[in-house]
Amino acid sequence: MTATEVRTVALFTATDRCDRCPARATALVVLRSGGELAFCDHHLRRYRAALAPLALRFERHVELDEALAFVPAPARR
Ligand SMILES: [Zn+2]
Repeated sequence: MTATEVRTVALFTATDRCDRCPARATALVVLRSGGELAFCDHHLRRYRAALAPLALRFERHVELDEALAFVPAPARR
């Protein structure tokens, strides 16, 4: 997994705001330094490339209903 991938994480984040604007945050950037930045979709797109060298990982945080839409069908064993 590279730092430029965005994981989808099922969390309720309706009250979390983007660090750069008043929009609801949908992504969390975990920095190698230990810090975290919350971004909306717009600002994630804008800063993703610039932050990639500094980021440990990108997490996409969405409402549970939305997150479930991303969940693939369970693999058959
Ligand atoms: Zn924003």
